[in-house]
Amino acid sequence: MAVRQLHTYCAMCISRCGVVATVEDGILTKVSADRQHPNGCICVKGTAAPEIVYSPDRLQYPLLRTRPKGESDPGWVRIS
Ligand code: SF4
Repeated sequence: MAVRQLHTYCAMCISRCGVVATVEDGILTKVSADRQHPNGCICVKGTAAPEIVYSPDRLQYPLLRTRPKGESDPGWVRIS
């Protein structure tokens, strides 16, 4: 198994915390604080990055609402 530890940053908010991303065989498996970065800590959202990236509920493509807001069925359709 190829394991890499990449010093990078979290881009999920404006803070841009320094993080260490663990990648195993091309899969992001862990995000932790980069202790060498001035911030030295991250929040739960940054820690949850692997869950966010690989969530089965994550949208994989853009959707367009075809019915007015307030209707029970927004009528989402996939667009390019
Ligand atoms: S770890 Fe949290 S606070 Fe830091 S950039 Fe990511 S989302 Fe923002």
